[in-house]
Amino acid sequence: MSEAVTKPVPIPDSISAPFFDGARQGRLMLQCCAACGKWSFPVRERCPHCFAAKLEWRQASGRGTLYTFAIMHQVMNPGFASAVPYNIAQIDLEEGVRMTSNVVGIPNNALKIGMKLEAIFEDVGQDVSLPKFRPVTG
Ligand SMILES: [Zn+2]
Repeated sequence: MSEAVTKPVPIPDSISAPFFDGARQGRLMLQCCAACGKWSFPVRERCPHCFAAKLEWRQASGRGTLYTFAIMHQVMNPGFASAVPYNIAQIDLEEGVRMTSNVVGIPNNALKIGMKLEAIFEDVGQDVSLPKFRPVTG
């Protein structure tokens, strides 16, 4: 009997822990620079805009629009075998950063560039949740 293969799960480190702690609590946490006021993502130690080491964690709106997407048909990791075909999406958040995730709650053929999305959080392993995005309704 074979053992079930699961998807790989991110391992938070000291720099990214606030992002994952927030996701676990259903909050999208991003870094915002106290020197220039610009948001950044992915997680980093210094502001990519002004290079100041003054990045602060703030709760983001969780709202954005679909910038682009691709549909994954290949099984590059056995943990994703039951998920194909799934979308890999880039979402432009209101804060001005672009995040790669998945759009959930609608069929892949209903994805439209520019559609309004909002973050939800999916438990993907013990103590790890990830932001996913669903269409804004109404
Ligand atoms: Zn800055």
